[in-house]
Amino acid sequence: MTCSVRHRVSLRDRVDQGMGTGAIRDGLHRLPNKRMQRGDILMPMRACPICGQDDRVRLPDPHVARSMLSDGRIWNGPLDKAACNSCGAVTHATILSAGDVQRFYDSDYDLGVDAGVSDVSRNLGYAAFVHEIVSQYDVRRILEIGCGSGHVLGYLARHLPQVHMDGIEAAEQLAANSPPGVQIRKAFLEELEFLDQGYDFAFCINVIEHAADPSEFLRALRGQLSASGTALIVCPAPSPPNLELLFRDHVSSFTPASLRALAIAAGFRVVAVLPALERFPGFQAFILTAASNGGGQAVVAENQAGAARAAEAAAYLSAWASLDRALCARMGDSVGVDLFGAGEMAALLRCYAPECWRRVDRLVVDSLAGARSLDKPMATFDDIGPSRKPIIVATHPQSQGAVAQRLFSLDLSPIVFNDMIKA
Ligand SMILES: [Zn+2]
Repeated sequence: MTCSVRHRVSLRDRVDQGMGTGAIRDGLHRLPNKRMQRGDILMPMRACPICGQDDRVRLPDPHVARSMLSDGRIWNGPLDKAACNSCGAVTHATILSAGDVQRFYDSDYDLGVDAGVSDVSRNLGYAAFVHEIVSQYDVRRILEIGCGSGHVLGYLARHLPQVHMDGIEAAEQLAANSPPGVQIRKAFLEELEFLDQGYDFAFCINVIEHAADPSEFLRALRGQLSASGTALIVCPAPSPPNLELLFRDHVSSFTPASLRALAIAAGFRVVAVLPALERFPGFQAFILTAASNGGGQAVVAENQAGAARAAEAAAYLSAWASLDRALCARMGDSVGVDLFGAGEMAALLRCYAPECWRRVDRLVVDSLAGARSLDKPMATFDDIGPSRKPIIVATHPQSQGAVAQRLFSLDLSPIVFNDMIKA
């Protein structure tokens, strides 16, 4: 499945990277393990759906009543996530059913048919990465799950013309646009019939975190492989915790250990775990083989226990829970302020910092082409003059410093929050 946003970012671009840790205890004490009060309904959290251990801690909700989907839409309900102290995976406190997950992808879902410049460049990067790994194997048939419009498969088809390329994509509009040499079908992995011979190589990029049941997803993936087939899974990395935790449709945030355990339970042998991809900060990759005795030495670099991961996630979401108040304090009594950016971070502030958002009059962007309005008027720097009103820098935390320098040079008064939200 490919999800996307207007600024037309495909699913694999939804997620950004890295952060540090902060006031851990504050986060953990906000919601979990609250003492029962008269009138409370006893609703014990179910065991971790990833590892089965009964040791999950409720994470702070960045907003009490709403959350955001990875296509930028606001969901009417809190984020409702919990972290496992045993395996470190983050899942929903109330486990979602397949029907719950399907509702994220209704007809309103922005499919991102038009890929922007950054999407194209990101897709090319992933394509080169997949090509490097595929090249290590003797491959005749390749399957991509959640292939979108087939950008990665199209690249592979150009470089490996002798290999048969299939893609499946849940979104019909995307599945209709197969590039040359590639067959894309509208289908979910779990409902795909098995081939007699199977695929030698199957991969999915930023898809498994959306699966309602990742165990079932992995079993279905293994079922598509030939006897010695290889699978490559790319998904968001858990540490440092980052923006991907804020998306309600990210059903599972895997630690290397938790995904590894699921893969083994699904019948895979783990060939390699790449806990942090150098070229794609904030992402991790897993190479698995269907062969029980093949594939070489597993490499697992797990340097943090589950409880430490859970505490990091709690601190991160706690910082988001206090962001609205902090931003309003930084704005002072200013109203009608500007906000720089009209992308993912702007959408996150709209959802999780509503009081700050209410005081924003317009969104300032470098170019109106490809920007989404998020229900506010848009302006470019040509439209605005020097102003003493604050301008909130709504970009990824790691770029806020550079953007602020630029805004200072234009005689503007930027407000950043990369001291609170680091990734
Ligand atoms: Zn667990």
